[in-house]
Amino acid sequence: MPLTLFNDLTREKELFEPLEPGKVKFYSCGPTVYDYFHIGNARPFIVFDSLRRYMEASGYEVIYVQNFTDIDDKMITRAAQLGISVPELAGRFVDAYYEDADALGIKRPSFSPMATAFIPEIVALVVRLIERGHAYVAGGDVYFEVASFPGYGKLAKQSLDDLLSGARIEIDERKRHPLDFALWKAKKDGEPFWQSPWGEGRPGWHIECSAMSMKILGETIDIHAGGSDLVFPHHENEIAQAEAATEKPFVRYWIHNGYILIDQEKMSKSLGNFFTAREARKRFSSVAIRLFMLGAHYRSPISFSDDSLKQAESGVTRIKNCIADLSSAPSDASLPLNSEGESFLDNSVSRFNASLDDDFNTAGAIGVLFETVKMINLSVSNGMSLNPVFRQKAMDFLSYADSILGVIGLADAIEDPSAPDEEIDNLISAREEARKKRNFARADTIRHELASRGIVLEDTPLGTRWKKI
Ligand SMILES: [Zn+2]
Ligand SMILES: [Zn+2]
Repeated sequence: MPLTLFNDLTREKELFEPLEPGKVKFYSCGPTVYDYFHIGNARPFIVFDSLRRYMEASGYEVIYVQNFTDIDDKMITRAAQLGISVPELAGRFVDAYYEDADALGIKRPSFSPMATAFIPEIVALVVRLIERGHAYVAGGDVYFEVASFPGYGKLAKQSLDDLLSGARIEIDERKRHPLDFALWKAKKDGEPFWQSPWGEGRPGWHIECSAMSMKILGETIDIHAGGSDLVFPHHENEIAQAEAATEKPFVRYWIHNGYILIDQEKMSKSLGNFFTAREARKRFSSVAIRLFMLGAHYRSPISFSDDSLKQAESGVTRIKNCIADLSSAPSDASLPLNSEGESFLDNSVSRFNASLDDDFNTAGAIGVLFETVKMINLSVSNGMSLNPVFRQKAMDFLSYADSILGVIGLADAIEDPSAPDEEIDNLISAREEARKKRNFARADTIRHELASRGIVLEDTPLGTRWKKI
């Protein structure tokens, strides 16, 4: 069954067909690097990482871009609080991002652009919008004129008037319409700044994603993903800027994940229930955090609590025990084939995929995973001997499921970082060979095998690098 995704632009579940066959251009909104990322942000990172893995396992080449916002009000305020420069702050929390994301098994993006490295592209896009009559200069600021773009509101599904009444807007006399938003902000004392045709200043937040997405992936891309809190104004504004400049569709599938609640309450600093992925990692294993995040459909809200995480932890243990029993059960090739078990496993693979094809329903896929674990447990209980064909098939299913969900192998990977370098290099060459032949499933299996030995791969334009974690 082919993959379908719920497109927030059309409000319908649609068949996913990339613009270019076999290739997916995927942009995911990344963190503002002013602090450790919080548990709410961990959800889109994990969910869209898993969607990317599934697409790769299905044979797509995925160009996955996730940006770092390294200049905005929060960056400037925090850097001042800590008495360091904005680039220093960004460097510190980009490093922290990778520490947490790597530990959570989040595959590194194909590109991780920093907004401040794209100032010329941003300025060029603003110039283009002014020239086309979609933006205006007010003092040293530049604003996008929402009334000039007839499609404004098409993602949020609201008219300008509805949006206006629902939004908290600061009255600003320089704006022609209260919803007009800053593309460029004039420099204030002590702030980082860049040169522009409108004087010294810095880019607004929304423009960076449009500029980087178009520069790296092209004017029209397949998927743009983020949390549902980004629908308005961020993604609405991204569409307006990009499409007003190019007159082409900016993104073909907009997908957003639901909110994360903490003990059924909205997470907020004032409630004191605001915590970071790093704090969560101290209390729970990374695989359990992933199992929890993927345990609900990505568009549903989820509630993070000690109980739900403990439940995920015991789920992980159940899978690991199953694998341990499966590995240690004695082999007996003379046993009759376990045809019932084998057809169950064949079914597991197709049911697992069918769930993911249905708007990436990871909850359904995890259900299949646990039903399969239960069936395997029945076959390996009481020290029974196993037909090796069954064992292999069962292991193949579990490692396939893990290559997409990342809910099994990671903890072991961190515990056992021992493999001779030469063997690693050989495996990396074998993986590159498999990728050249477009055998992405095989390539992913090798990557996974390396990960289980604590080796993390990073694909760079100069080839694959690896490191031990
Ligand atoms: Zn975005
Ligand atoms: Zn963005």
